[in-house]
Amino acid sequence: MRILLTNDDGIHAPGLAALEAIAARLSDDVWVCAPAEENSGAGHSLTLHMPVRLVEHGERRFAVTGTPTDAVNLALRKLFADRAPDLVISGINSGENLADDVTYSGTISAAMEAALAGIPAVAMSQAMRDRGHAFSAAEGWAAKVLAPLLDLQMARRTVVNINFPPLAAEQVRGVRVVRQGFHDYARGSLVEGTDPRGRPYYWFGLHDIEHTLDHGTDLEAVSDGYVSVTPLHVDLTHNASIGTLAEAYAE
Ligand code: MN
Repeated sequence: MRILLTNDDGIHAPGLAALEAIAARLSDDVWVCAPAEENSGAGHSLTLHMPVRLVEHGERRFAVTGTPTDAVNLALRKLFADRAPDLVISGINSGENLADDVTYSGTISAAMEAALAGIPAVAMSQAMRDRGHAFSAAEGWAAKVLAPLLDLQMARRTVVNINFPPLAAEQVRGVRVVRQGFHDYARGSLVEGTDPRGRPYYWFGLHDIEHTLDHGTDLEAVSDGYVSVTPLHVDLTHNASIGTLAEAYAE
């Protein structure tokens, strides 16, 4: 099995090293192609206004001077021109990708880029409310959570979004398959300051966002100490509104 690993925290991120160790137990044909720099919050952006470069960091290890989407796109076109990977895993992100985080997430978008190319794709993120545990839950549970996915025929253009709770591996209570939740709208804090030239600046903060923990959601599962597994798809159509809109436009 040929596996491509990527992320949005950059080629030197500890979460990527953790993922490489996990993937090495699944296959001896593991490749890495990740952004050269941290790209958290990059979403599904593709670099169009300047060139990107592919920098070799070792055997089957490459960095791309661009976004997570650039990294996957370039890997598929240049590194795997002969044979596409059988699986793409993005992560392990330092921090959760729950609820509407998925629309900002470079981790999720890298997996979506693979899904759009018809390749099974998994995104993995480690919630980090207690930094003392770091990647403990992910390291202890990733193999167990990945195992059923390896034999499963996932629907085309879907991504499996996996989030590990911020606990030591032995404190994790199990795995739940759940739907995407939604944050109560508040994008954390806004830090305001003045730069050395006297001009005001604004900086989006990362304070905890208040949640209404709807039942059966990824937010609830991780909050309850479970690994959340959520199938996402790239088709953003809200099918329930098709009829309402069609009626509104009817002559
Ligand atoms: Mn990130």
